[in-house]
Amino acid sequence: MKYNYNLTTKLNILSILYTFFDEFISGFEFVCKPGCNICCTVDIVCTTLEIQFLAKHLKIPKKLPTKYYRPNISINKSAQLYINKKIPPPENSDRSLIACPLLDKHGLCSIYPYRPFACRAMMSRTICQKDREADIHPFLVYVSLTFMQLIEHLDNEGHSANMWDFLTNNSKYFIKNQPFPGIIAPIEYRARIKSMIRRILNLELEDKKLSYYFNLTI
Ligand code: SF4
Repeated sequence: MKYNYNLTTKLNILSILYTFFDEFISGFEFVCKPGCNICCTVDIVCTTLEIQFLAKHLKIPKKLPTKYYRPNISINKSAQLYINKKIPPPENSDRSLIACPLLDKHGLCSIYPYRPFACRAMMSRTICQKDREADIHPFLVYVSLTFMQLIEHLDNEGHSANMWDFLTNNSKYFIKNQPFPGIIAPIEYRARIKSMIRRILNLELEDKKLSYYFNLTI
């Protein structure tokens, strides 16, 4: 699918999605607070568009990570397989859990307003120091997955990869993005996810609803 609008418009839409997500999750309770960064590891997967969103604000660290999780399939490809009742291929990469070099000396994210969606999706109901895993509300897991699907759809001429492969232009690990194949939330969350997507598609940019840009039927 080709879009007839430019990168600036896509970046503006991404910014609208980030803002909507922040508002949407504000009614849920989390224990996360500044300086709590156990989930800030190098295993961050994002899209080309998200890298373009943060690039201007990023100072590439001198010491770059070399070992980190690499996806072998994009979120929408995986969703497509799930919808077709097929099993995605097994992962061939482990999480390294090494601390993200973009944390500053105070333990804060140095690109916080511009961080990729995968970082935004980490919101825990309990303090996650012990096993380094965020305890995410099950409904919010599907909310986040849906946002990742929409971001990939928006960037469907781009790629997905680990953030560090993008930042080092390690293109052999880039995975081609795909359009949104449908909602993958279980039946108990489906109506709420559908209504959330409709709200998103009703938001406006430059006198047009986002449905015009996304070209999606829900
Ligand atoms: S980019 Fe920022 S929020 Fe994301 S893992 Fe790195 S330090 Fe944490």
